[in-house]
Formats: sequence, C-alpha cells, structure tokens
Amino acid sequence: DTDTAAPILETTDSDVAGKSAALIANEVARRRTFGIISHPDAGKTTLTEKLLLFSGAIQLAGTVKGRKSGRHATSDWMDIEKQRGISVASSVMQFEFRDHVINLLDTPGHQDFSEDTYRVLTAVDSALMVIDAAKGVEAQTIKLLDVCRMRNTPIVTFMNKLDRETRDPLELLDELESVLKIECAPVTWPIGMGKNFRGVYHLLKDEIMLFKAGEEKADGAFEILKGIDNPKLAEMFPLEIEQLKMEVELVHGASHPFDLERFLSGVQTPVFFGSAINNFGVREILSALVDWAPGPRERDATVRAVEPSEAKFTGFVFKIQANMDPAHRDRIAFLRVCSGRFEKGMKVKHLRLGREVKLSSVVTFMASSREQVEEAYAGDIIGLPNHGNMQIGDSFSEGEMLTFTGIPYFAPDLFRTVRIRNPLKMKQLHKGLQQLGEEGAVQVFKPVLGSDLILGAVGVLQFEVVASRLLNEYGVDAVFEGSSISSARWVSSDDKKSLADFEVQLGHNVAYDAAGNLAYLATSGVNLRLTQERWPKLTFHATREHA
Ligand code: GDP
Repeated sequence: DTDTAAPILETTDSDVAGKSAALIANEVARRRTFGIISHPDAGKTTLTEKLLLFSGAIQLAGTVKGRKSGRHATSDWMDIEKQRGISVASSVMQFEFRDHVINLLDTPGHQDFSEDTYRVLTAVDSALMVIDAAKGVEAQTIKLLDVCRMRNTPIVTFMNKLDRETRDPLELLDELESVLKIECAPVTWPIGMGKNFRGVYHLLKDEIMLFKAGEEKADGAFEILKGIDNPKLAEMFPLEIEQLKMEVELVHGASHPFDLERFLSGVQTPVFFGSAINNFGVREILSALVDWAPGPRERDATVRAVEPSEAKFTGFVFKIQANMDPAHRDRIAFLRVCSGRFEKGMKVKHLRLGREVKLSSVVTFMASSREQVEEAYAGDIIGLPNHGNMQIGDSFSEGEMLTFTGIPYFAPDLFRTVRIRNPLKMKQLHKGLQQLGEEGAVQVFKPVLGSDLILGAVGVLQFEVVASRLLNEYGVDAVFEGSSISSARWVSSDDKKSLADFEVQLGHNVAYDAAGNLAYLATSGVNLRLTQERWPKLTFHATREHA
C-alpha cells in the first residue's frame, strides 16, 4: 500500500547541494575564456572590437582603443602606450554570445612585455591567433605560440586582411605548419583577395559566404550561397570559380581535416580567413570558440588538482594592474576563478597571508565598463581592489590550503640601478618600486649590502614604463643607470647555514626581491658558474614560482 502513497516532499541538504552542483556545472559548461594573440598590427584590436559588436556590448567600432579613431577609449591607456601605439597593458572583457559567457583576455603584443603575456595566457583555456595574411608568420607570433604550447592551449587561427593583396593562402598554411609547427585544418577558404576578394567557402558546411565591404555591419550577416557547384556562383564569379574548385580539391587532398581531439590537445589549429575591419568571418570565429574551444578545465595546485565544478570557490591572481581608472588611482588584482561559485560579499581565504578577506567590491569587466560582480564561476575573471597586499600568483579559497601552480616569474636579462634626483623622495621611491614589483611591471632587487636598488626586466620598455609611472603616480623623478649585473638567479637550499653564509659573504650581490625571495645577482656568465660551483649546497633557479 505504501507504494501508492504520495511521497512527502522535503528539501534536504543533499537536495540543495545537488541543485547547486548542477547549477555550477551548467555555468561552467557555458564559459569560454580565451586570449587573443598576434604580432603588432595584425588586427587584434580591430578584431576585438568586432567580437564585442556581436554581444551588443559596444555600439560602434573604435571604442576599445581610442588611439586611431580619436574616440574616447574604454580603458585607460598610459601615455607611453599612446605615444608608441602598442598595448602595454592587457585587458579583460566579458560578453555573452549564443547563451555562452565569453571572457576575452587581451595580451600585449610587444615582446618587452612577454612575461605579462605569459601570465595572462596561464589564465585562459584557449587562444585566438590573428595573422596578417599579407605578412604571414611574424616574430612575435612565433614567441606567443611557444608560450601557448607550454600548456598545450588550443588555438583558433584567423587569417586577416583578405580585402588586401595577401600572400597565397596555401603558402600561408605551409608557413604556419613549418614555422609554428602546428597542424593546420582550414575551415573556410578565401575566394580571391584584395579588390577581387569575393568571400569564403566553408569547407565543412559546403557553402559560400559572399564578401561585402562595410565597417559597421554589427550582425556579421552576409549572403550565403549553398554548394560549391551552385550555378549561381559560376554566373557571379566566372573567373574565380574554377580557381576555387581547384584549390578546394587541393586543400581537401593535402591538408588535415578538422579534428576536435587534435585541436583540443593543441596539435592542430582550425584556420579561418576573413577581414576584421569589414567584420567578415568574425562570427564564424566566435562560433568556433563556442562550439569547439574547451570550457574551464581542471587546474593543478599544490596538494591536488581542482575541478571547475567543485562546490567550493577557488582562484588565483595572474595579473595586477594599477590605476586603470585615473579617477580612482587604485590597483586591481585580476583573479581567475578556478572552481565553485563566487558571490559578492563572500569571505575567502588569502592563502599566502593566511588571512580571511571579505570580497565586497569586486568588479567584472563587461566590455564597456567595470561593473559590480554578483556572482562568478570557473573561467570568469574578477577584479579585486588591491590595497597593496596581493601579489601575482596568490591563491584564494574558502579555507582549503592550496596554491595554484604554473604562474612563473622569469629571471630578468636586463638590469638598471636606480638613483633619484631628490633624496627626500626616497620613501616614495621605495613604495613605488615595491608596488610596481608586486605588480610584475618590473623586478626589484634590494642587495643585502649597499643602498642601491637594482631593477630587472625582460624587455627594455619595462624600464621606460616604470620611470614614467614613478613620475606620474608617485612623484619620483628617478634616473636609471647601467648596472654591472648581467643575470639573476633565485637561490634556495635546505641548508640554512649555507644560505646564511652566502648572504654574509656575497652581500653586495645577494638580494631580496619584492616578494622577499633570495636571489643572486651575477656580474657575468663566468661569475654565475663559479658561484654555483663554490656553493654546491645551494640551488640556483632561472624561474621562480610564486612563494
Ligand atoms: P593590432 O596592433 O594587432 O591591435 O592591430 P589593429 O587592430 O590596430 O590594426 C592594425 C591596422 O590594420 C589598422 O590600421 C587597421 O585598420 C588595419 N586592419 C585591421 N583589420 C584589417 C582588415 O581586415 N583589412 C584591412 N585592410 N586593414 C585592417
């Protein structure tokens, strides 16, 4: 009889947990977090603007960066960047597309900021590589791809500027394969180029999308013709159609068919042709990212790996940026959520300091503005106001002790000593350098003996940025001078006595960095080698993970 009795509905804790787990899993599944990489001038900014157009996040092209259009820029760019027309800072934008939440992370293209770029790429699940089809693979493309390869990041390729005279598309694919050592799977194929650019043929869908110039086509809807044998096509483009058929046959025969598994493991890249400035082929890229690119995946931490759909919130800081909004003069720590659900006002543990913090004024980066975040899930980037206590690589959790790994600092190759014109500004200098050091804008070493501070950088432009920021943000007129230091190594050892002796004996060349790690500053390659030989109980590291 009990079979027929109506079940008593009761909400148990496990029901609630079940619902919340399903909600988190669902939110994770619709996240896509990708970085956009390219050699300067390939069209990254233009493409970013067009991607944002789809979400309705911006109405007009030209709002991402004001430097060419003269319109007001959405994000604040430093003077030095405006002067040089390069992206010094990288930024984060979030928008929705086809019921997915897309987090787009811009990366500085200039090689002098490669360290920043590397760390931004640790926070993404896939990357969009933009190539100028007139130029092909360029120096910075190679470096950025190497960085992606360290984590086997899946890459979607966009061949840009087909409205111009470009190189032969087959040759471009060859170059990608041989120089970047990545398998190419063309998904669309261009019909003509420059003045004779007619559109692209979609190899998987067997349809032709007809090109039409025009900058402000927000929806990216272009006329579609079904089938490569469509008689209408032969009528419209009698000259190009034979060439297309020949090339398509070649491509089918000679290139790799798209393979999702190979894409996801980072060995193959789907290739799209188009023209960012005409918003042509851009929607296809967004679709590829939504359909093919991975959502958030498991992340390595000390102790264990963390699954994105776990109930408890975790995340790590991969970037700190100062004064994004000159009116606020604040610093923002960019945190990638790795698991669980972030809710406004929640208390989390700042694991390096072992301190609980309440996250009440956290911001997200909706494409056109900074907005208050109510909730966030794995893959999302949230901005934490930072009053000088967060560092790149810091992990946060609801209490569990773990630190996300794989966010390195690289030993600098370039060194300067700092002098100030006004000795009364010493305190400001130290404060400024401490903060800039924590941000990763430059590496700051304070020798155990002597009063000079030594700055280390990977690229020389970093020094210019630091000098200009010291002046503008801290009122310090600093002079950077050549240094006798030629390389740096972080030093560690289980042998405390050796470490202490090392500090005492080599005090002028032993220094602490901004995060309090011990480093050796070598004056030459020979000097470094000899020192290593003389101190066999110490280990010398060319990179360091977050403490
Ligand atoms: P970034 O340095 O990679 O961000 O490149 P930008 O987006 O600033 O573009 C560099 C230049 O290429 C600008 O003058 C753009 O107007 C131009 N550009 C971008 N996309 C296209 C395109 O599809 N066709 C043509 N002809 N020019 C483009």
